[in-house]
Amino acid sequence: MLSDFKMKELNDDAEIRNLWLEGIHNLDQRQAPKKNKDFYDFIIVGAGTAGCVLARELIYNIPNINILVLEAGPPDIQVNDIMRSPCAFPSIIRTIETDWGYFTEDQTMPSAVDPTKEVLNRRIHCARGKVVGGCSTVNAMIYMRGQEADYNLWATQGPEYEIWDYNHCLEAFKATENNTRKNPDEEFKKYHGFNGLLYVQDKQNDFDDILKDVIKIAKNLGIPYNNDFNGARQNGIGEYQHTMKDGKRFSLADGYLADALKKVETYPPSKPFELGSPHRLGDDVAKFVAVNVKCFSHMLNIIWDEERKDENVAIGVKYFYDGRVHESFIAPKGEVIICGGAINSAQVIILKIKADFSIKQ
Ligand SMILES: Cc1cc2nc3c(=O)[nH]c(=O)nc-3n(C[C@H](O)[C@H](O)[C@H](O)COP(=O)(O)OP(=O)(O)OC[C@H]3O[C@@H](n4cnc5c(N)ncnc54)[C@H](O)[C@@H]3O)c2cc1C
Repeated sequence: MLSDFKMKELNDDAEIRNLWLEGIHNLDQRQAPKKNKDFYDFIIVGAGTAGCVLARELIYNIPNINILVLEAGPPDIQVNDIMRSPCAFPSIIRTIETDWGYFTEDQTMPSAVDPTKEVLNRRIHCARGKVVGGCSTVNAMIYMRGQEADYNLWATQGPEYEIWDYNHCLEAFKATENNTRKNPDEEFKKYHGFNGLLYVQDKQNDFDDILKDVIKIAKNLGIPYNNDFNGARQNGIGEYQHTMKDGKRFSLADGYLADALKKVETYPPSKPFELGSPHRLGDDVAKFVAVNVKCFSHMLNIIWDEERKDENVAIGVKYFYDGRVHESFIAPKGEVIICGGAINSAQVIILKIKADFSIKQ
């Protein structure tokens, strides 16, 4: 039985889909794309964790759309495929081709803050994945959800935050997860999903001797053993699960983007799709329905609608690819979605604020 809240959410989703359906079936009323301009329903900037999930959810849930995903970094098969090897994690985050190379500012920390000697007057490497899959292609693969109490606290912050309550998040976690634990007990099944697109597994080889000893000592000290940090109790000593499949890294690109790329159609569907030649389809074929991922494409700025300056309406993006600046646009009702991660998404907003500020000067 679905809660009222969940029902409302599903109805809202259905409404959004209907709106899209209307827009897409009114193709002849749409502004005809100008020649030589790239038009998409959605432009997603960043093929990281958020971008991969969004691309997949949009292409499967809204009919007849096309999506451009711009990724500044290379495909995730780069660097001799070492990215899939879990033990390569420490070196991957120092690989210049796949890291943004950010460092923090010198940590001087005056006044009330009491810095430890380790950070004082030092700049610290702040790894951020610059590759398809984003940080999920370079991270430490630990599958650890937040604390139940934190989600529930967020949910109390106002009606629009109710979606964050733990039970609701738990359903979402389970829907995304494909947990491969052998013989899971009933308690484990309450907290985990087994049919999602994100593979999660226990470590395959036996515990290292040193880990076994650490666990033994912790138990002797009265720290309880925990065989599921995402279960009812999230503290204790034990070993966490990993976002891995068959002993190899499993990124969001492996799960979600790979699935998104499987959806290739034309609209209207009557016209057969000619492999490899979307641009040579007849004039009666309105559009190529697919996700188009462009690697080595660094978005430089959002293109704003000059005629609706006060409304801050995005109509496209400028990006650097293959030695020159390109532009791609969104069709009417389309959206530019920035999924550049914690640092780069903020940088795009700062560019806009700076531009507005300099106009006012
Ligand atoms: C070293 C490290 C270890 C971690 N370990 C874990 C862990 O063990 N478990 C865990 O759950 N989480 C871990 N995380 C955190 C987790 O991976 C991230 O929180 C998550 O991947 C962030 O997702 P995101 O979509 O916000 O950004 P990202 O995954 O960073 O995606 C952003 C993408 O946008 C691209 N991009 C940015 N700017 C532009 C631009 N201008 N033009 C085009 N493309 C652009 C980037 O190249 C990147 O691919 C770790 C993170 C790091 C860095």
